[in-house]
Amino acid sequence: METRQSTQWLLKRRPEGEAGPDDFERVEVEVGPPAEGEVVIEMKYISLDPAMRGWMDDRPSYVPPIELGAVIRAVGVGQVVASKAKRFDVGDWVVAPSGIQSVYKTRERSGLRRIDPDLGPVTWHLGVLGMTGLTAYFGLFDIGEPSEGETVLVSGAAGAVGSIVGQLARIAGCRVVGIAGGPDKCQHLVDDLGFDAAVDYKAPGLHKAIKAACPDGIDVYFDNVGGGILEAAISRTNDFARIVACGAISSYNATEPPPGPRNLGLVVARRLKLQGFIVMDYAERYGEAVPRLAQWARDGSLASRETFAQGIDSFPDAFAKLFSGDKMGKLMIEV
Ligand code: NDP
Repeated sequence: METRQSTQWLLKRRPEGEAGPDDFERVEVEVGPPAEGEVVIEMKYISLDPAMRGWMDDRPSYVPPIELGAVIRAVGVGQVVASKAKRFDVGDWVVAPSGIQSVYKTRERSGLRRIDPDLGPVTWHLGVLGMTGLTAYFGLFDIGEPSEGETVLVSGAAGAVGSIVGQLARIAGCRVVGIAGGPDKCQHLVDDLGFDAAVDYKAPGLHKAIKAACPDGIDVYFDNVGGGILEAAISRTNDFARIVACGAISSYNATEPPPGPRNLGLVVARRLKLQGFIVMDYAERYGEAVPRLAQWARDGSLASRETFAQGIDSFPDAFAKLFSGDKMGKLMIEV
């Protein structure tokens, strides 16, 4: 029976601030044939997500920290190459909690999900039809509750989640404004994704730019970044606006707790709703969202831009791109 070589990236030490190559270790391991009930999967694409940075810290969260010496936690798409499992055959495409490694051997009942490669590109299952799309869908519709004609502002708008949020809000008939870093990303939001306006947070005058782009105020703010951008968005909210607290990427590499928004008093005065969520909260309702997202992706009303880092060895450099912004849309490794 065949033995395969797997390249793995392990967490060598806990990063201080930004994670770098010295925090990770690349190893080669041999993966033997599957035992009864196991499958061997050749990973083709692995998703890179900002949340992975938080899992590298030793602190309680909604999932346990990655242990030192363990394969770095991540989700990927791959193809079964050997199987002694009842539910999976050689050739099946699956989404798997593989971590950053090129060959993954696992028991069949461990978060594996078969996917239909005819539904669209298999990479969609890490992006628009995967955690990214589901986060955008439930965060926007369930917590943001946008109504036609309202103004929706989204930060991290040229990123994976933000770009889907803006397009879903457009489908819902809202005025959509995105916040992104740099003129190219802002132009992409308006020209390619159909946003009504975009604000470059790296240019001076953020408050004024948000005011100009949202002349009727903000009814829904979908927050992917936290920090000063959250504060600026709060100050432009309308009464009864909803703030969807999805993530705070601006502080994921912080070594000190970031200062909170200084204008939280407006939450009372303007009767704002500010609610966080974790996409897994909606696991029982994924079946409701996926067909709708797939339909929009197929009919072209939902574009999903993807950026590929080449090869498993690109992991440390690719991971840094999440925080430097040096990518568009969903970032993944093409193994
Ligand atoms: P991406 O990396 O694709 O997009 C995030 C974008 O944020 C980047 O493209 C970058 O673009 C921007 N960004 C990076 N650093 C900063 C900064 N300091 N200030 C402002 N913007 C910054 O990530 P995702 O779209 O996958 O995730 C977006 C957010 O959603 C993250 O906070 C993530 O943790 C969260 N999330 C939450 C989930 C949940 O269940 N609650 C599930 C999935 C994601 P630019 O060049 O414009 O700066």
